[in-house]
Amino acid sequence: MAEKRDYYEVLGVSRNASTDEIKKAYRALAKKYHPDLHPGDKAAEEKFKEINEAYEVLSDSDKKAKYDRFGHAGVDPSYGAGQGSGFGGMNMDFDLGDIFSSFFGGGFGGSAQRANPNAPRRGSDIQTGVTISFEEAAKGCRRTIEVPRIEVCDECSGTGAARGTTTQTCPECGGRGQVSTQQRTPFGVIQTSKACPRCGGRGTIIPTPCNKCKGNGRIRRNVKIEVTIPAGIDDRQVFTVRGQGNKGINGGPAGDLRVGVNVRPHPFFERDGDNVWCEVTVSFAQAALGDELEVPTLDGKVKYSIPAGTQPGDVFKLRDRGIPNVNGRGRGDQLVRIVVDVPKNLTPRQKELIRELGKEFGQTNIHETEERKGFFGKKKR
Ligand SMILES: [Zn+2]
Ligand SMILES: [Zn+2]
Repeated sequence: MAEKRDYYEVLGVSRNASTDEIKKAYRALAKKYHPDLHPGDKAAEEKFKEINEAYEVLSDSDKKAKYDRFGHAGVDPSYGAGQGSGFGGMNMDFDLGDIFSSFFGGGFGGSAQRANPNAPRRGSDIQTGVTISFEEAAKGCRRTIEVPRIEVCDECSGTGAARGTTTQTCPECGGRGQVSTQQRTPFGVIQTSKACPRCGGRGTIIPTPCNKCKGNGRIRRNVKIEVTIPAGIDDRQVFTVRGQGNKGINGGPAGDLRVGVNVRPHPFFERDGDNVWCEVTVSFAQAALGDELEVPTLDGKVKYSIPAGTQPGDVFKLRDRGIPNVNGRGRGDQLVRIVVDVPKNLTPRQKELIRELGKEFGQTNIHETEERKGFFGKKKR
């Protein structure tokens, strides 16, 4: 495969371009190289892919930061070496809860119960992001998301003990998890209890820890999760997949998977709530005489007849051609704004014809204005 181009170069923006500038540049390029406009053109298709890839990274603040620091290797798992170790060094954080509970396990009165290391605890949520196209957001889609997730260790089924061995009652505390110490002070004997230092308050120890999870009972590994992205989701919305987060501790429920959605802007369509706006350019003749147009919609092209005398900026509504409401409340409309193309680079004959027409219009306009005055005048009366 050829060397990848710099993403900023692909979009033709500077390294400190704003989000808006990046979006603008993307839209202009996507419009230019959209496959609909170049059917069968491989080069344009590749270019379109490259533009989308660059936008996917530069529009996501997290990915952009990684790209800025590490280049392509920071955002593309198939790029360069060293990626395999991705999450290798990050095993520490899920021990945190356990460390806390052994610190605070005893001696704090009321909080001792809450910090019981054997209490079931819910797994934490996993946050991730996904980039989808405008059409995918409108119609909904399925995606397989790969995330590192904390799972029950399959080697020891979560006990933390090596195969063929078991956990044992802590000899230090006899399974109570607490040890008491007596201290003689000038005020008498004070008895304090604290979490057993040997077992961390669990009451059990693992004589031979499982090799795979080092006795933790849980491991982090990459899993593929198939998710259904609901139709109508919008840019920057987050949807939740219940129970697909990190596994719980001591039989507690799993956390959730929370997926932030990044929707690539569309070259022709612009979203406004559940409505979709687009512009259709017509010639002066079409606007003046009326015509049947082919209007692009999310469902493909539909025919729409504009009446004679259509004005620049007129808006037509195609009912129920917009985006389905993400909460199932119907569907938006498509709004079509008419742009009238004023021709440039006219041939001498065209100029002549338009001049002729102009003379005609000169009269017609006066005539029409008077007619209108009359009409409104009558209406008033
Ligand atoms: Zn103990
Ligand atoms: Zn294990």
